[in-house]
Amino acid sequence: MRAVVYRGANDLRLEETPVPRIRAGELLVRVAVCGVCPTDIKKIQQGAVLPPRIFGHETAGTIVRVGAGVRGFAVGERVALHHHVPCLACHACRHRAFAQCRVYQRTGVTAGFEPAGGGYAQYVRVMSLVLPGVVKLPARNSFLEGAMLEPVNTVLKAVKRLSLLPGDRALVAGQGPIGLMFTRLLALRGVAVLATDLMAPRLQMARRLGARLLARGDDPQLPAQVERWTRGRGLDAAVLAAPSTALVEQAHALVRGGGQVLLFANTRRGDTAGLDLAAICVDEKDLLGSYSSDFTLQAEVARLVFSRQLDVRPLITHQFPLAATAEAVKLAANPRPDALKVVVSQVEA
Ligand SMILES: [Zn+2]
Ligand SMILES: [Zn+2]
Repeated sequence: MRAVVYRGANDLRLEETPVPRIRAGELLVRVAVCGVCPTDIKKIQQGAVLPPRIFGHETAGTIVRVGAGVRGFAVGERVALHHHVPCLACHACRHRAFAQCRVYQRTGVTAGFEPAGGGYAQYVRVMSLVLPGVVKLPARNSFLEGAMLEPVNTVLKAVKRLSLLPGDRALVAGQGPIGLMFTRLLALRGVAVLATDLMAPRLQMARRLGARLLARGDDPQLPAQVERWTRGRGLDAAVLAAPSTALVEQAHALVRGGGQVLLFANTRRGDTAGLDLAAICVDEKDLLGSYSSDFTLQAEVARLVFSRQLDVRPLITHQFPLAATAEAVKLAANPRPDALKVVVSQVEA
């Protein structure tokens, strides 16, 4: 089969590799669509992990082989995959800190080599440990929609960390695909969203998805605008879907006492911010983080996406063929104003 193999920092090569062999309890899936995810981009560009690997973990496709003993799945079914599933039994899982679970941290979908998702290949092997995360696609929904379940899951998990009430006012900083999902999910909960970004088309999309107020992220009038918009009370929450440390300090200043700042994009180790600790202690402002997905939300995520309450289709702006995966990664890493979610698609046009 054809696969795009990571051979070192910024080195992706289209190669001929063996179709993965499955064992009992596993599935073989022909990949239709795989989203390009920032966490993979980081690993590819920085060469942060040892090659060779086949990346791509936001995968949807068709089951072409079912291993012995697998119940509930059949050849020909269209599915979305989940590459991480927690054990639900360990200390971390009992605290619902699934991303810290050892089993969760094992990647259960592979196209060969050290398992890394495998979605940038024609076929993937779905190991038994992640079978509980496989979701069947309804007939009316596309592979594109299926491939978006994983990123939507990470956003819904983060939204659930916020204690917001209908009518509250929240900032979502950064209106890339993830920020836009935050904007939509918060709007669905009746939260008024102030959406910021530096690119005008992204702000227009935020408006379309339900943002109440738009602003450029670098507008020096932003604090005054927040002051007016919240009638002097301050924001109930701020979600940072852009990896800026200056933004953390600004957002922390803009939330009200008892409010929450949620970091979603600050994934680089070693980054620090200067915060007034009394704002945490006396003003009771919470600083939260959220990373990766929550398997137990999968049914809710599927409902939101497949019902199109959260319509992910307008978020997917660019599709590349498998052979152009490196180009897809490059565009997703340096988005033009018109680019939102970039995917690799092997669906025949
Ligand atoms: Zn992802
Ligand atoms: Zn666990």
